Amino acid sequence: MDALTPIPLLINPKAGSLFRSGLKAWLDDHRADFRVIPTKSAEALTAKAAELAAAGESIVAVAGGDGTLMHAAKGLVGTPGALGILPCGTMNVFARELGIGSRRFDVALQAMRGAARQQVDIFAVNGRPFLQLAGFGPDAAIIKRITPKLKKHLGAAAHVVTAVKVAVERHATITLTLPDGEQISATQVILGNGKRYGGEAHLFADARYDDGLLDVAAIQMESVGILYEVINYMVQNGATEKNTNDFTKLRQVTSCDITADAKLPYQLDGDYVATLRPGEVAHIEKLPDTLTVCVPDAPVLTPMARLLAHPMVEALRERIEALKEEL
Ligand SMILES: [Mg+2]
Repeated sequence: MDALTPIPLLINPKAGSLFRSGLKAWLDDHRADFRVIPTKSAEALTAKAAELAAAGESIVAVAGGDGTLMHAAKGLVGTPGALGILPCGTMNVFARELGIGSRRFDVALQAMRGAARQQVDIFAVNGRPFLQLAGFGPDAAIIKRITPKLKKHLGAAAHVVTAVKVAVERHATITLTLPDGEQISATQVILGNGKRYGGEAHLFADARYDDGLLDVAAIQMESVGILYEVINYMVQNGATEKNTNDFTKLRQVTSCDITADAKLPYQLDGDYVATLRPGEVAHIEKLPDTLTVCVPDAPVLTPMARLLAHPMVEALRERIEALKEEL
């Protein structure tokens, strides 16, 4: 794209994240790059994104976290319009996984001005699409109970307080049904479009955005405390078929159904969505079209540079430095 053509940029002018993330100040220095379009609601953002793509815009940029990106994606999926991301949310999981990173607005702009594009599958739960993750079970029960007020006062501690409350409840037995008829029982089901559950660590080591497959983890664990240890272990190590334990099943599927014997809350991209009634089915399937996203050009790494960047090598170097100091 021409470096002088302003890119349409959808923002929610009232979002606190615009200021907290420093994006507002950055935009003041990049006025010529964008045509800022304020939107009042998620629905308006989706409609405007679709309208811009239909009008022939090759890029539609949006400022926000994963939830806001999804609303823009809904309007862009299946169109030639590419999603440009200015990641100003709290976690920015999707932008991190695509190599843009969190709140790195210069990298984000380079991605839009550059030519690299990534095709991304979009899966939907009962017609409701998500970008990165869906969770059925205690993780959604925790998210459901964290009120914005509690989150503001306690920050990350809000999760701990709520987790303790959720831990003492009886949890629904979930039945996950796969396309080949296999049925798996679980207390927590996590669906991943990409590798990440949050932050930098990878949960689904083998996941790809463009393989047409959804990565599924079904974990059978009555104790929520241990359930979180299991998820944490998977996030630390990257879950693959080879390294999972007896109570975790990993699958890659094109679609699946989820039911439960009791009320089952679910979350999409970190937002509580709804609670399934006992026996009610959540059907998960891929949308027929993909989403095009602006991504940075792949960094060219020599084999040696790639080896040196490996976390294990870095840990080893740190250990050697520490040993040197001891000597
Ligand atoms: Mg995939």
